Amino acid sequence: MITNFLAKINKIFTDKTYTLPATAVQPEKAPEPFKEDKPMSFFTESELMCHCGCKLLPQQSIIDKLDEIRAAYGKAITLTSVKRCEAHNKKIGGAPKSAHVEGIAADLRRSPDLLKFILDNAERFGIWIEDPTKTATWIHIDLRKRDVGPSHVFRI
Ligand SMILES: [Zn+2]
Ligand SMILES: [Zn+2]
Repeated sequence: MITNFLAKINKIFTDKTYTLPATAVQPEKAPEPFKEDKPMSFFTESELMCHCGCKLLPQQSIIDKLDEIRAAYGKAITLTSVKRCEAHNKKIGGAPKSAHVEGIAADLRRSPDLLKFILDNAERFGIWIEDPTKTATWIHIDLRKRDVGPSHVFRI
């Protein structure tokens, strides 16, 4: 990835033990450290963070899972709710022990096509899905460990 490549270049310029060949021109000044060291994602921080304005982000595990699902699906996915702080979760009437508060859940805007894909691949992704008959306009997925395990798949 370009990010890794740039980080590597930056390391060469900032690593004191690395000496350029005698014939090469020594840089006058090392470039500024590369600031963007987070992995690239299909999703922006504003899509992932709590919508109350507190700017809290979810755990990396659910971001990675969303990227894995998005890459496999091959089409755009709209996230309606990912991370929620406790106050915001309470305000919108979320479950008190919601996996959204823990930062390991995501609600995806529902379409018949995406729902079918998620249901067909839930086991492969190791995700838990809330009963789709109870989530009319979204698909809730999360990474919480449950007795039912990831093989718990709804057929609707
Ligand atoms: Zn919040
Ligand atoms: Zn949810």
